[in-house]
Amino acid sequence: MTSPTRPAGTAPRNDYWRDIYRAIRSLITGMRLTLRYMFSRSITVHYPFERLAFAPRYRGIHEFEADKCIACNMCAKACPVDCIYIDATAPRKIDQKTGKASGGELLRFAIDYQKCMFCGLCTEPCPTDCIHMGKLHDLSAYSRQDMVVEFTELDRKGQRTPLPLWIDRNAGQIPWVASERDRILRGELATKAADTPAV
Ligand code: SF4
Ligand code: SF4
Repeated sequence: MTSPTRPAGTAPRNDYWRDIYRAIRSLITGMRLTLRYMFSRSITVHYPFERLAFAPRYRGIHEFEADKCIACNMCAKACPVDCIYIDATAPRKIDQKTGKASGGELLRFAIDYQKCMFCGLCTEPCPTDCIHMGKLHDLSAYSRQDMVVEFTELDRKGQRTPLPLWIDRNAGQIPWVASERDRILRGELATKAADTPAV
């Protein structure tokens, strides 16, 4: 119902000033929040030019020491999604003198990263401690087949883990990426015993 002293469709004078007050107050509240976040410490980094350190028990793409694998299948049996594929010509065992596996030939050790959920369960039963969760997270590929990583083929090139495409392409521009690429190509493990405290 409209007031008899006021034209239809117009607001009372009190409402007019109250709306202006509310608009100014909400503007000041918004600006105060903006200023507070503008000068607070940033919690994001400009990846890949900067990066955060991973937690010691971070579970990334696997690192595999084929020369210590005895093809016992314990990791494959522990995997909840059956994404580890192993094939060997005959049983293998660790030579106590060299610390390397001998006997049959390890024909295939592959992990399908379309299915892997990085649970780390495969690393726990390994009797020779030759499969580790690494510190790289950015595996990419152009085909589904390339998401199946053939670790025995990598081992023939001296690698323990696949070299991500983007690391290969950006090594020239970013120093830490270059050192990661060199580490991978040298077949050096990222996972060190000291990184993984017992729980
Ligand atoms: S991390 Fe988990 S899902 Fe991936 S291969 Fe190992 S056991 Fe299977
Ligand atoms: S549990 Fe270890 S030794 Fe056995 S097949 Fe798996 S990686 Fe090889």
